[in-house]
Amino acid sequence: MHSDSPFQQIVDAVRQRHRFVVSSHARPDGDSIGSQLAFAYAARALGKEVLVVNKDAAPPPLMAFPGVPEIQIASQVSGDFDAAVIMECGEIARPGVAGLDRYFLINIDHHPGNTGYGALNWFDESAAACGEMVFDLVMALGVPLTPEIATHIYLAILTDTGSFHYSSISPRTFDICRQLLEAGVDPVAVARSVYDSNNMGRLKLFGAVLSAMQIDATGRIAIVYLDHEMARAAGGTYEDTEGLINLPLTVKEIQSVVFFKQNEGDEYRVSLRSKGDIDIGAIAKEFGGGGHKNAAGCTVTGPIDKLQKLFLEKIEQAIDGRPAHH
Ligand code: 5GP
Ligand code: MN
Repeated sequence: MHSDSPFQQIVDAVRQRHRFVVSSHARPDGDSIGSQLAFAYAARALGKEVLVVNKDAAPPPLMAFPGVPEIQIASQVSGDFDAAVIMECGEIARPGVAGLDRYFLINIDHHPGNTGYGALNWFDESAAACGEMVFDLVMALGVPLTPEIATHIYLAILTDTGSFHYSSISPRTFDICRQLLEAGVDPVAVARSVYDSNNMGRLKLFGAVLSAMQIDATGRIAIVYLDHEMARAAGGTYEDTEGLINLPLTVKEIQSVVFFKQNEGDEYRVSLRSKGDIDIGAIAKEFGGGGHKNAAGCTVTGPIDKLQKLFLEKIEQAIDGRPAHH
């Protein structure tokens, strides 16, 4: 690697600067949380001061991870920082935390289409998780891989690969995970915390949403829907839906899932998933969102019937590689 590569510049910046604020996207997931905390622990091992700030709290199953309780939940940040490290965000607006752009920005991301908003910008679309990049950073900083750092990176990789399901996985993914396990990660404990720590409301909510699931005429696309009324009736919350979207994909014939979650009125959060070569990331991007080939999202407004029909058409086109015939 050249000495002036973005990666090396970030290594140097972390060594030279002292006070860091670390943020990531709103509605955090395992990769954003794991990447942030692994970095925070590593930087502290070098004697740095690090504040981790996110707009939204971590999903309840992630509360068990060592660094999660220390994350500050705030929609703005001020104070004396030598740099803001932004993980996993294609745009500086994604964290939803005001004031970050006043600092020296270090942008670390694996999403296609990152706008390069940082003073230093390091992208690696080939990384299965931002956590893989943080692993490289930790190694380059010469920080010993403690069980805490390793566990947060493992959380990032486990969740962002959909528990080792997605096509983003590479030999490097397993090579990193091997080193993480040697550093003390307990993969059984991590899986239990992430996947087997649900509350009953979540299970009931899954039941309600899956009962109402629709399948397209060709049997390849699942449409799931949730509004506030359904959540209340089931005794669950929107946060409880984390991971729900992946369940329809466990059906062999299902190639793609679209999940509409009502925000307010006619505004919906759309989550998209697909198998293999089907690129639903491009669809999310078309609607002002983004993500990866197999996992993406956006926010849209309109009558739900029209939106469902529209996304169905787009997904059919993505599957067939040509406009669908009706
Ligand atoms: P989820 O469906 O779990 O909310 O999001 C899946 C992935 O899609 C996320 O990891 C993120 O990469 C991406 N994503 C979701 N929503 C948005 C959005 O509104 N904008 C962008 N740029 N990416 C999104
Ligand atoms: Mn990610």
